[in-house]
Amino acid sequence: MHAPPFYKAFAEARDFNRGADHIAPDCAGQNFYAIDRGLRDLLQIYLEPDDFRRLEPHFDRLGALAGGRLDELARAADKHPPVLNARDRSGRDEDWIDYHSSYREMERIAFGDFQFHAMSHRAGTLDMDRPLPAAAKYALQYLFVQAEFGLMCPISVTDTSIHLIRKFASPELRDYLLPRMLSADVATMWKGTQFMTERAGGSDVGAIKTTARCEDGVWRLFGDKWFCSHADADVALLLARPEGAPDGTRGLALFALPRRLKDGRRNAYRIVRLKDKLGTRSMASGEILLEGAVAYLVGEAERGLTQMMEQVNLSRLSHGVRAAAMMRRCVNEAMICARSRVAFGKPIIEHPLLRRQLLKIAVPAEQALSMFLFTADAMHRANAGSKEAESNLRILTPLLKFRACRDNIPVATGAMEVRGGNGYIEEWVHARLVRDAHIGVLWEGTSNINALDIVARAVGKNRSHRTLEAVLTKLLDEATPIPAPFRDRLRRTLDRALVFAERVAAEPHLEETARQAASSLYHITSSILMTWEATRPKADARRALYARLVLEHRLSAQDPLEPHYGDWERDAAEIMFSERKVALPEIAGLLS
Ligand SMILES: Cc1cc2nc3c(=O)[nH]c(=O)nc-3n(C[C@H](O)[C@H](O)[C@H](O)COP(=O)(O)OP(=O)(O)OC[C@H]3O[C@@H](n4cnc5c(N)ncnc54)[C@H](O)[C@@H]3O)c2cc1C
Repeated sequence: MHAPPFYKAFAEARDFNRGADHIAPDCAGQNFYAIDRGLRDLLQIYLEPDDFRRLEPHFDRLGALAGGRLDELARAADKHPPVLNARDRSGRDEDWIDYHSSYREMERIAFGDFQFHAMSHRAGTLDMDRPLPAAAKYALQYLFVQAEFGLMCPISVTDTSIHLIRKFASPELRDYLLPRMLSADVATMWKGTQFMTERAGGSDVGAIKTTARCEDGVWRLFGDKWFCSHADADVALLLARPEGAPDGTRGLALFALPRRLKDGRRNAYRIVRLKDKLGTRSMASGEILLEGAVAYLVGEAERGLTQMMEQVNLSRLSHGVRAAAMMRRCVNEAMICARSRVAFGKPIIEHPLLRRQLLKIAVPAEQALSMFLFTADAMHRANAGSKEAESNLRILTPLLKFRACRDNIPVATGAMEVRGGNGYIEEWVHARLVRDAHIGVLWEGTSNINALDIVARAVGKNRSHRTLEAVLTKLLDEATPIPAPFRDRLRRTLDRALVFAERVAAEPHLEETARQAASSLYHITSSILMTWEATRPKADARRALYARLVLEHRLSAQDPLEPHYGDWERDAAEIMFSERKVALPEIAGLLS
């Protein structure tokens, strides 16, 4: 791995650009792994040393691709969205979607080279003799999405479909689907997707109207799926109501719907049209009409939604990772621009108000990075049998999805603004980042749905906030190099956030504050994580300064008629924008 000193690559780009009328460069050509000190440090905390050593060349290679070829391909794919063909030239209803060659090349990188879809499920990807740990998989998603967001939907939903089929499908169905889905041969493999939403039922899943009829032992589906991303996938997992089953979510069963029948004919469903979307333009989302399509029941008919929720939760985690990735791209773009663009005689990073804007971009990005790696680690431990980790995963997943996806929107807009007018022009990446950011608050549950899940179920029903408290307390106890008054503040804030969430869960009239309670839990969790991370051997101590900024600006009362600014922040900003690694003793005085 050729890791340059922190931001050296940026400095080179800045110097190159000097004198060229000061149009600031973008991150094209950078290695997104090499320039990401936070990621490199944290992976050494969350991966076993041997795994890190084996996987680091792949992080490095993907980092270079994400800043290079993938970035070029993503730009092209965004400009050449997929096109639906309803019929062939002989008038047969052979609907198919044409993709631009750039999208196809990205698929080869994702499914053929890196095998994202299979890396959690079998050995043999990226030189590993076993499936990758969750932190490694999500770190790779994080690097990929810094270049291309749209394709991560098909990648992730293939991965999560494989999970459901492995866990719940009958042995015959597994034997039929899994070898095809786990293949790395891009020309013949079967990719997955998930069709749940209907006109009447997005959040309100129980309103789903699609019916399933069993004829001579074969299930046939009839209905209209309104939002179908990766519309031409080879296998879709979907919910339908078997005839005679009860209303509401209790009556929904989970089915696997193949695009082709065993004899090669097209299954009886049609992609009616593609959506003309604000973002994720490289990837096809459509509407699908089920006209007696053959499908296979997955697991128990009565447990359809419970089973499907496993896929939803895996997707939610990935959405949090994707938001973290896009925010990182925003940070990188904003930093390279701020260091090289000159206004009023000096680089704009030297203007105090602009520095403040940069911190507003950087802090949520760092929070999301810590949160997704911690959540992935909980998943890894839960898969190994830890009940405490399973409980933590239960609450961390919607917390990450909810808050990181929301933060992504102002961060993307903020980074665009740092670039000034050029940021609004489609030749630069910002317009795409702004467009793509907005989908995160919609799919796999809106902000409200995720906040209610956190408060009503993860806190109220599962009591997961108390296992989270236990692990955060342990981390605070371990963070002894941090001054005690700062750790005490974090501890007191944690107590208040937990009590607040419990109140909202217990008192129905407080439902309107579910988002506030969820945000508080996210902010205090990420603050404690970043504080602890700052104390780990070899880690960069500036993470503790991010933690304090969260504490001051997200978890403390502010008077709108007083400056929201402490003198300590000037010194902190000086250190945070330096291009060197920061040691704990030099910032300890700023943590109180
Ligand atoms: C580009 C795109 C791709 C998509 N791809 C897929 C896909 O592949 N598969 C799939 O299944 N779905 C997909 N979706 C659908 C997406 O998951 C839904 O749009 C989303 O879940 C919201 O459902 P809805 O659109 O029916 O909105 P509604 O459920 O009608 O919600 C409308 C508003 O009401 C709020 N609301 C609803 N219930 C409550 C409540 N109890 N309390 C407070 N507020 C509430 C919501 O937060 C929202 O703001 C996609 C959507 C988009 C835009």
